Amino acid sequence: MKTSQAQTSGAVALVGAGPGDPELLTLKALRLIQAAQVVVYDHLVGEAILASIPAGVERIYVGKKASRHTLAQQEISALLLRLARAGKRVVRLKGGDPFVFGRGGEEMEALLAAGVAVEIVPGITAALGAGAAFGFPLTHRDHAQSCVFVTGHLKDHSVDLDWPALARPGQTLVFYMGMAGLESIARQLEAHGLDPATPAALIYKATLPQQRFWSCTLASLPDTATRHGVKPPALIVIGSVVGLAAG
Ligand code: SAH
Repeated sequence: MKTSQAQTSGAVALVGAGPGDPELLTLKALRLIQAAQVVVYDHLVGEAILASIPAGVERIYVGKKASRHTLAQQEISALLLRLARAGKRVVRLKGGDPFVFGRGGEEMEALLAAGVAVEIVPGITAALGAGAAFGFPLTHRDHAQSCVFVTGHLKDHSVDLDWPALARPGQTLVFYMGMAGLESIARQLEAHGLDPATPAALIYKATLPQQRFWSCTLASLPDTATRHGVKPPALIVIGSVVGLAAG
């Protein structure tokens, strides 16, 4: 539990819900959900997870698909603050891990600055769920000595990622939120020297009943996405480890 010196009242738990399969919730997440008075959640938290919220617990939905939030981030933080100050036991439930592209950091900062205690409960991030669901390791001594989680959400279509570093061989790249920028991502990696024949995969809704895995190469990523109509939430994984997948 982190607290700031100016602590007043209330507490919020920022809880990772994991990639979708409810059995991948941690025991701690489940315990906090079941003891909550209010659960504030967004679109990545699916039905199966929501089913673990006891009847009578208030649910507040604050998210919507395709990065267009129902409530702006500041409004979400303000809502959490209001609920905490009203003395409620608040669970802020997020898909995957709250600190991996989950804006958990921003919410934590806002709450701590207002003197509200914050507890962080990690969740299984989508990349780990995808590797487990389709049988590919993220690192492997013969394939990848490092693994990089990258945001594919390119601001204004501009390219402010460190492409020369990302294009180096011997690593696994996992792009979150990358479907809209897929073409640009593939083009940049090739332009910076990554072999177009590098194995790649698109993974949709890993660990959920609708999960899908499409195997391709760096060069054929955009085409594969178009041909199969791959939509978010999906991960783009690039690196020879995906060649080990069962999918
Ligand atoms: N905090 C989350 C990530 C939020 S960003 C985590 O740790 O997993 C949202 C992006 O996560 C989506 O655009 C998609 O790229 C990815 N994602 C989340 N759940 C996923 C799943 N079950 N399968 C594939 N991708 C997923």
